[in-house]
Amino acid sequence: MPDFRTLDDLGDVAGKRVLVREDLNAPMAGGEVTDDTRLRAAVPTIAELADKGAIVLVLAHIGRPKVPAPEYSTALVTRAFQEVLGRPVRYIDWEGAAAAVAMLQPGDVALLENTRFFGGEERNDPAVVQRFAALGDLYVNDAFSAAHRAHASTEGLAHALPAYAGRSMEKELKALEKALGNPERPVAAVVGGAKVSTKLDVLRHLVARVDHLIIGGGMANTFLAARGVAVGKSLCEHDLTGTAEEIFEAAERASCTVHLPYDVVVATEFAANPPSLRTCNVHEVAADEMILDIGPAAVEALADALKTCRTLVWNGPLGAFETPPFDAATVALARTAAALTQEGSLVSVAGGGDTVAALNQAGVADDFTFVSTAGGAFLEWMEGKELPGVAALMR
Ligand code: ADP
Ligand code: MG
Repeated sequence: MPDFRTLDDLGDVAGKRVLVREDLNAPMAGGEVTDDTRLRAAVPTIAELADKGAIVLVLAHIGRPKVPAPEYSTALVTRAFQEVLGRPVRYIDWEGAAAAVAMLQPGDVALLENTRFFGGEERNDPAVVQRFAALGDLYVNDAFSAAHRAHASTEGLAHALPAYAGRSMEKELKALEKALGNPERPVAAVVGGAKVSTKLDVLRHLVARVDHLIIGGGMANTFLAARGVAVGKSLCEHDLTGTAEEIFEAAERASCTVHLPYDVVVATEFAANPPSLRTCNVHEVAADEMILDIGPAAVEALADALKTCRTLVWNGPLGAFETPPFDAATVALARTAAALTQEGSLVSVAGGGDTVAALNQAGVADDFTFVSTAGGAFLEWMEGKELPGVAALMR
């Protein structure tokens, strides 16, 4: 287990000013938060610290402002955050922040203005780190999803103040460690999605670490093409078939079984329930057809493989799941994984923007062991990269 400090190591925080980095960058429309998942993830840490009498100062960013602008103000999420937290949250602008913080009482929660209103936040400028550090006594990083960036509020502060992982960060790091750091074997990885080119580093990292590499989605087409299969009009990166070959070879050296579909769902046009829809063997795809999902025989074989595994890590849908019926394989395999997890035979960890949407569509996100909403940070972790915001928390 990577050794990082958590809230359990904080000691007595009563009256102490604790700077807590959260990811409150929730989707918004018309000035309203439309999905409060990220706000809810921040609650356990903030509530625990406030209950222990800390003065809680939340640091967060909204969007990618070039210059400070009201449409990027954290003031826009303050009310929604207050609602999910169930206690008052004071908004504090950068101007006069020190004086405003000095007025706070133990147990109070305040949300500071957008960290990215300082140009030096993203450059990890020591002057900005100092400006933040001067407001607090302790630093808690609870934003795994921002931990792949070495910014002043995500990395720099961990060197300026005693630093700890918040509860959400802790939960995420423990789940990821269980899935790939020190997993129970055999381990399966599902890698799907549109293109091989966006996930080359993920594939290269995984082949050496997992027992079964299940390739689906558009990227399976490139691997099939590398095996000499004619994929018709399918999304396929023909220039990457050599790279696909290298991955097959690396898998062989590492005794990793690569699973490609035997059967596929094809159509001549990409539309919902198209008249040309059919299921066929991978060797029977016509020149004017495209592969839009893996087939039912493939799903059955993959379900059998999962039954022999103890750990699963999943990124990327197996088909063009947004358009029916090309969600069928993703939904079916997700339900199998969820059922195995509920029976206690599988630890299942999934992440990725579209993957989370697909698991929600299948209605099984809550039945997985852990679903990461971290996006970029989750993918970098799948690539085996060290995340600067996490590294800075290590003892
Ligand atoms: P994530 O966001 O979970 O990392 P990706 O963004 O890599 O996943 O991939 C998701 C996209 O891949 C979806 O938009 C899906 O429609 C697309 N996709 C999956 N399979 C295919 C396919 N066979 N042909 C075209 N697009 C596909
Ligand atoms: Mg995506």
